[in-house]
Amino acid sequence: MRLDKYLSHMGFGTRNDVKKLIKNGWVTINDETIKKADYNVKEDDKVFVDDEPVSYVEFEYYILNKPQGYVSATEDMLYPTVMELIQSQRHDLYPVGRLDVDTEGLLLISNDGKLTHEVLSPKKHVDKKYYVEFDGTLPENAVDFFNQPMEFEEFTSAPSKLEILDTNKAYLTIHEGKFHQVKRMFEKANCTVTYLQRIEFGPLKLNDLPLGEFRALTQEELDALK
Ligand code: URA
Repeated sequence: MRLDKYLSHMGFGTRNDVKKLIKNGWVTINDETIKKADYNVKEDDKVFVDDEPVSYVEFEYYILNKPQGYVSATEDMLYPTVMELIQSQRHDLYPVGRLDVDTEGLLLISNDGKLTHEVLSPKKHVDKKYYVEFDGTLPENAVDFFNQPMEFEEFTSAPSKLEILDTNKAYLTIHEGKFHQVKRMFEKANCTVTYLQRIEFGPLKLNDLPLGEFRALTQEELDALK
């Protein structure tokens, strides 16, 4: 990988910032000052910036408890993005999938394109479990109603699992992640979602991670996800 890209990924600034660092002689590789931004960093190269060793981590994985009011994107004109809640200097992280602006809960953040593709692929069937509060009265056969395919304009959902907690509270586990999917499924049951929180994404569980906070995945979680 090019030296400027490598250092930018590791949080030393934008590509332009790190080009200046390199040009000004702050970077040594294997004890030699390197002033070329396009130097090809090899696996066993010993990279130092300002005499501090840099150990390259290729991929990072976090879970965030997304609050309402944040958009699941890296840039937005209207809302703050979830990336503002992640204290990492890296420039290549992004949210894996989306939650609506008014949805809370578990959002995976990474820079691993292969994993992203896999966990979002409909073939992989990563289950997503939501805690739902809603207005309206569920039909009597609600569990069966959700446990059958539902037809939408652009797709047919796989059977989902409804667990009723109270007259206006439930868990719903779905297999896809289409736009407003949970809200649209509840609309089919003549109910309106008033609060939505994702509590599980495949093997990952939100548990007691405080709202607005994030943490790195454990190796166990990562292995289970892959
Ligand atoms: N379903 C929705 O309706 N919204 C979300 O944010 C996630 C799933």
